[in-house]
Amino acid sequence: MTVIAQRVRRFVPTGRRQETARVVCPVDNWSFAPKFTNGVCPLCGYKPEGVEFHAPFAARVDWFWPSMAFMLAASIAMGVLVILAYGHK
Ligand SMILES: [Zn+2]
Repeated sequence: MTVIAQRVRRFVPTGRRQETARVVCPVDNWSFAPKFTNGVCPLCGYKPEGVEFHAPFAARVDWFWPSMAFMLAASIAMGVLVILAYGHK
């Protein structure tokens, strides 16, 4: 691995360590990756101890209203720009 790739990897969260971390549920003997199941067994809801799962910030936030506010602001800005361009001589 090159030095540049190592340095880039430090800033880009690949989550590879968590991705490969698999846990076997003692109740139903099911192997699962806590990263993709919100930290609990998908079959019975068993929460493995010692495995800390925190969803990334972007996944925890409901982006509906922020995106609506952004689209409203963009629409108002576009309207203002059109009015200004129309009145410009
Ligand atoms: Zn289970």
